[in-house]
Amino acid sequence: MYLLYIDGSGSVKNPNEEYFILGGVSVFERQIFHLIKRMDEFVESLNLGSSPEDIELHASVIANGKENPWKGISRKARLQIIEDALEIVQASHWSIGLFAIAVHKERCAPNDPVEYAFEEICSRFNYQLRRIYHRSGRNEEGKQRGLVVMDKSNYESALQSLARTFRVQGTRWGELRNMAEVPLFVDSQASRIIQIADLGAWAVWRRYEFQDTRYFDKIVSRFDSEGGVLHGLVHFGPRGENCHCPACLSRAVRDTVGQ
Ligand SMILES: [Zn+2]
Repeated sequence: MYLLYIDGSGSVKNPNEEYFILGGVSVFERQIFHLIKRMDEFVESLNLGSSPEDIELHASVIANGKENPWKGISRKARLQIIEDALEIVQASHWSIGLFAIAVHKERCAPNDPVEYAFEEICSRFNYQLRRIYHRSGRNEEGKQRGLVVMDKSNYESALQSLARTFRVQGTRWGELRNMAEVPLFVDSQASRIIQIADLGAWAVWRRYEFQDTRYFDKIVSRFDSEGGVLHGLVHFGPRGENCHCPACLSRAVRDTVGQ
């Protein structure tokens, strides 16, 4: 089984922000333990005083530096911590794939950007599972199920009702044939992998909201892709924009092959 941990970046309601990003990290069940261990070791190596399991890697909180244990650490050092954490993701096992849906909120209006991003990320994840199955020569071992795991504090009400609708109506969720269950909600503080999804979403948010590619460049090679075509990154940008970001350049190729 593959688990897709998802988390968002950028405010849905703040009119001063243009983008909402939903980020995800897809992990094969046997890699979960190793990835968590690696992140725990990283947090421990920061020597931040409090016990490492109490320290959440939440990108915007680290960047703001207003809360403990980040208070009192220079901005430069805090941003370096985010970069170092992304390096770990960059160097992680090959089977670990990143996903992100960058939604220009105005373009999406009047539809809900969270809902749009959620459906798109689930569909991208489903497509990854389909590709794994086809690559395996369509044998039983290659038939991997997927499970979406998300932070309960952030989008609980909106996404939980969406998940319920999926379950009750069996509509769009039913089309995602490789999913084992409707999404599960966990506490992001307790889940290092949700925190990775948050770091990835924030890196993508910096890229599209501020054209700051410092963090995005660290992880861009880890977005789900095959044969040079990027499947895991989607940019739903302003109408009429002629964008040359990696997602938009790949979209033309995806359209050609029907994905
Ligand atoms: Zn683009």
